[in-house]
Amino acid sequence: MGKRKSRTSKLMAEPKKKPKLDTDFTCPFCNHPGAVQCDIFFKARRPFAVASCSVCKETYATKANALTEPIDVYSEWIDSCEEANEGVVVRRPRLGEARN
Ligand SMILES: [Zn+2]
Repeated sequence: MGKRKSRTSKLMAEPKKKPKLDTDFTCPFCNHPGAVQCDIFFKARRPFAVASCSVCKETYATKANALTEPIDVYSEWIDSCEEANEGVVVRRPRLGEARN
């Protein structure tokens, strides 16, 4: 059994740090990646969340609860944008509608 000298260099960076929290999103208005930040105000009397774009200054506010995460706020914003984009207000009953 020959011993092989293998030098494994430690050049590989360990991905310990997450480069970004998933609180930065692409703006639905200006499409600027990472421009949208979501803030959730749990301590308010009625918790709410605000998503805002640092580029075009669009904002979206919605209700929040203890389980609300930034991605939820963002998805809601997208949802409401899509509805608005349909041009006509489509009144669909939301009951029983499966939403992801
Ligand atoms: Zn924007």
